[in-house]
Amino acid sequence: MSGVTHDYMEDYIRNLIPEAYDKYKELEDFAKENKVPIAQKETAKFLEFIVSMKKPLKILELGTAIGYSAILMYEASGTKPSITTIERDKNMIKYARENFKRYNLTEKIDIKEGDCLEVLENLIESYDLIFMDAGKGHYNHFLPHCLRLLKDDGIIVADNVLFRGMVACDELVKRRKITIVKRMREYLELVSKDENLITSVIPMGDGIAVTKRR
Ligand code: SAH
Ligand code: MG
Repeated sequence: MSGVTHDYMEDYIRNLIPEAYDKYKELEDFAKENKVPIAQKETAKFLEFIVSMKKPLKILELGTAIGYSAILMYEASGTKPSITTIERDKNMIKYARENFKRYNLTEKIDIKEGDCLEVLENLIESYDLIFMDAGKGHYNHFLPHCLRLLKDDGIIVADNVLFRGMVACDELVKRRKITIVKRMREYLELVSKDENLITSVIPMGDGIAVTKRR
C-alpha cells in the first residue's frame, strides 16, 4: 500500500507496461534487491513522457542513486542532453558511475558529489528541466535555488511530494516523519500559492509536483 493511490490502480497501470519492452530491467532488479528507492514504474514513464515533450538540452537532477532516472531521461529525451546530477552517498556514486559507463554516458552525465543544498549554492548554469528527488525534508530550501537555476520556460518535476500519503493526511503521519511532512507541505504551498508559478500535483507513484513559470 503506497498510501498515495489504490493498490489496484497502481497494479493495473504498472501491468500495462510490457516487461519485454523494459529496457532497464537490470537496473530495476538491482534497485529492488538492494532496496534503493528509484523512481517507481509509472513515475519513470511520466519522466520519459515529460522529457520527450520538453526536449531539454540541460537537465539538473537532485538524487542520483544508481543513475536509473538520469539514464532514462537521457535516453527518452532524444536530445542527447547534458545532465548534472547530485548525490552524497559514496556507495551510490560508485554504482552510478558504473552504470553511466555501461550506457556510454560518462561524457554526458556529470555527478556532483555532496549535499544538494551545498552543491546547489555553487551552481550557476541554467537548466531546462530540474528533477528534484533527494532530501524530501529540504525541497522548500532547494526551491529558491532551483528557481534561480531554472530557464524561463523550464520545468521542475518534484518526486515523493505526497510521501506515502502522509503529506495529505495527518492520521498517516509517523512521528519520526513529522518534520519532513511539514516541510513538504510548505514546499507544495510555496509552489501552489506563488502567482508567478503554475503547479500541478499528481497523486501518482509517491506523488509528483510539476512546476513552471507562468
Ligand atoms: N533519482 C533516483 C533515485 C534517487 S533516491 C532514481 O529515480 O533513479 C534519493 C537519493 O538521494 C539517494 O541515493 C540519497 O543518497 C540521495 N540524497 C538524499 N538526500 C540527499 C542530500 N541532501 N544531498 C545529496 N543526496 C541526497
Ligand atoms: Mg523518488
